[in-house]
Amino acid sequence: MPELYITRPLPDSVLEAARAAFNVTVRTQTSPLKKGEMRAALVLYDVVIPTLGDLFAADVFDGMAGSRCRLLANFGVGYNHIDVAAARAAGIAVTNTPGAVTEATADIALMLMLMSARRAGEGERLVRSGKWTGWHPTQMLGLHLGAKTCGIVGMGRIGQAIARRAHFGLGMEIIYHNRSAKAIDVPARQVGLNDLLAQSDMVVMAVPGGAETRHMIGAAELCAMQSHAHLINIARGDVVEEAALIAALQAGQIAGAGLDVFEHEPDVPEALRRMDTVTLLPHLGTAALDVRTEMGMMALANATAQVQGDPLPNPVGG
Ligand code: NAP
Repeated sequence: MPELYITRPLPDSVLEAARAAFNVTVRTQTSPLKKGEMRAALVLYDVVIPTLGDLFAADVFDGMAGSRCRLLANFGVGYNHIDVAAARAAGIAVTNTPGAVTEATADIALMLMLMSARRAGEGERLVRSGKWTGWHPTQMLGLHLGAKTCGIVGMGRIGQAIARRAHFGLGMEIIYHNRSAKAIDVPARQVGLNDLLAQSDMVVMAVPGGAETRHMIGAAELCAMQSHAHLINIARGDVVEEAALIAALQAGQIAGAGLDVFEHEPDVPEALRRMDTVTLLPHLGTAALDVRTEMGMMALANATAQVQGDPLPNPVGG
């Protein structure tokens, strides 16, 4: 049987399915792979299932053109931790798990939008502190999202799922910025990034990570936002320049932020942790058993196709 290396523990049903078709080695640690582990995996296994944090940079593939591994079947839709061009140059294909993550991640975006706008984290902390003095008409007033404008940056699968929820669920008007022209099934206008920032009450980041989108939101972009607006990031941490975000929040340039991802995970700057105007989640986008199971099955389908010589269902990188 072909050899499969899985770099983190996955749901039991995924491991069971994997063992039916492969000799499976599961790494039991939950931390990212070190460079030596990555290079050893490329030498020893036919397929590797890596995930977020496993930094397959170009130098990991040095001298790997004749290695045993022919596929990195990434567990996750985001693959900016893998240098796909360097993998391809070594003859190693890369696949991902699109679609499986879409609805659950959009749910987390909506949760962060509501929590940030309606001050849910702050309110929950107030109740827990025992210092809540009771309801009154001007207590903890937030931003009601109905009929407000939601600006989505990156109108792909997740962006569109967020748009559907925000428009049909919350009654928001949708505008979006996307790299290419996009026809979508939600009433919405495509605009330039600066117009989106200036017009939105809620700005939501849903682009992939990587060199093209790194620090797409920095000081100038935060300055272009309205002072009552909120920024939500469910994409990748470095899409937003964290230091600039902290400065903008401290200066009251924007009203709040909801973050599921951070520039240097799992480090979250103390300045962010101290601010009541930010809602912080530990990268929960796809954190549900059925979602993680579907992601695992999708990665396995790619691994199986590879060893059977079939076309890969979800290749990335052209
Ligand atoms: P997708 O379908 O590929 O959508 C990405 C969209 O972003 C595409 O429409 C793309 O435009 C657009 N885009 C790319 N670069 C851009 C740029 N420079 N400026 C403007 N728009 C740009 O991907 P998806 O499935 O929606 O996932 C998006 C990302 O979410 C993933 O890559 C991942 O990093 C992140 N994610 C996070 C979590 C979490 O746990 N928080 C979970 C899942 C995914 P084109 O139409 O021109 O290609």
